[in-house]
Amino acid sequence: MGKRLIVIGGVAAGMSAASKAARQNKEMTIDVYTDESYISYSACSLPYYTQDVIDNKEVMIARSVAEFGERGVRAHPQHKALRVDPAKKAVLIRRPDSAEAWEAYDRLVIATGARPIVPPLPGIGLEGVFTVKQIPQAERLKEYIAARKPARAVIAGGGFIGAEMAEALLALGLKVTVLEMAPRIMTLMDEDMAALVAKELRAAGAEVITGAALTGMLGEDRVNAVASDSGEIAADLVILAIGVKPNTEIAQAAGIELGFKNAIRVNERMETNLPDIYAAGDCAAARHLVTGKETYIPLGTTANKQGKIAGENAAGGQAVFKGVVGTTIFKVIEKEGARTGLSLREAGLAGIDAWESTITSYTRAAGYPGRGEITVKLVVEKGSRRLLGGQIFGAAGAGKRIDVLAALLQTGASIDLLAELDLAYAPPFSPVWDPLLVAANQAVSKADKME
Ligand SMILES: Cc1cc2nc3c(=O)[nH]c(=O)nc-3n(C[C@H](O)[C@H](O)[C@H](O)COP(=O)(O)OP(=O)(O)OC[C@H]3O[C@@H](n4cnc5c(N)ncnc54)[C@H](O)[C@@H]3O)c2cc1C
Repeated sequence: MGKRLIVIGGVAAGMSAASKAARQNKEMTIDVYTDESYISYSACSLPYYTQDVIDNKEVMIARSVAEFGERGVRAHPQHKALRVDPAKKAVLIRRPDSAEAWEAYDRLVIATGARPIVPPLPGIGLEGVFTVKQIPQAERLKEYIAARKPARAVIAGGGFIGAEMAEALLALGLKVTVLEMAPRIMTLMDEDMAALVAKELRAAGAEVITGAALTGMLGEDRVNAVASDSGEIAADLVILAIGVKPNTEIAQAAGIELGFKNAIRVNERMETNLPDIYAAGDCAAARHLVTGKETYIPLGTTANKQGKIAGENAAGGQAVFKGVVGTTIFKVIEKEGARTGLSLREAGLAGIDAWESTITSYTRAAGYPGRGEITVKLVVEKGSRRLLGGQIFGAAGAGKRIDVLAALLQTGASIDLLAELDLAYAPPFSPVWDPLLVAANQAVSKADKME
């Protein structure tokens, strides 16, 4: 069993790996090298920090360098890993004073995460163009809003981060346009469900333009408009939220095998193809438990879990990470959206013969204050009646219902089992027939008619 663990990357996956390794093996020396100033923070909170729902950045940081130190983890912010030499079992680190030194490891966890895609478009370097992934980026965005008082924002990308940022900027009083290259926003949901998200954004005053790519940024020093397939759109603030790509360059250069979408290929123990090197989080692929195939769904929840497993195994454990079902939840204005498993479109792409069933019900019992609509879609495998996925959109209380579906997907359950579940009921929480049961009952009778 190795004595020195090096972790590259100090956010969700990296710090989970280091913490678990420290608990697992008290003999190990554990060093985390990360190129940022901040460690162990929640990028997921940045849209809420932008709009001051979270007004103190300290609460986004789970633990400080000193607190990790007390737990046996030495964290080194502003230390960039430049190269991994698997033969020498060492990592070349550039320190804050720019000095470089090789650090030897017995076990290595790569948790380098992902970075926002920044296309090389004209004007991309203009003042007023932002990505939101790290705390300093959000701080600069907030400073820009305070100093320049932008009136019109374009958000390129209509995924969940784009929607969350649209909500943030609307709350700050900006006129917001969401510009999406695909024929619709929220491509992680089917068209009918995505339309509900677009409707919510429009109702809040946002303009939603689909089927139009961003082609450039216009302005002298500072952005004042964007060019797009749909023409020029005035904008003194632009947020790029068109997706992320895994930071896998140093892994690839070291001979580590990449898989789906250039994410690091790992097995169930989070091992790469090279001995004693593990990978976890947004830089790593995962197995999709519905399709059985390799996938890349970068999320904080997965990063924490994969990091924990990688850390445990790197410290001598035998833990397994079985995979993901792609469960995602988001809030947009007053509504909540969520999805898990496969959409109907994704089932088709995976070659699975599937059908869908959608209902609209209510989040709470009739007469109880705050009751709102909820739409639930189930995606079902033809013949076997296996639940393949679900999507939910609706009023407060709607979104977390997705967890029931996510749990069932892990077991390969049928819609018949969903219909039999003993789900909780009281008027403040649901109608006596929870919307999931209503959805399941409708799907069961549809399936019966198909037979
Ligand atoms: C705005 C926003 C909202 C989000 N909301 C949600 C949400 O609601 N739910 C959810 O589950 N997920 C959400 N996510 C995704 C979630 O934040 C990520 O999945 C998570 O941060 C991944 O953690 P990670 O440790 O794998 O990678 P990262 O957070 O990317 O951390 C990797 C770290 O490694 C550092 N690094 C990279 N290369 C090197 C190197 N060579 N040397 C040293 N350091 C290096 C990086 O700078 C970074 O600090 C959101 C993301 C964003 C941006």
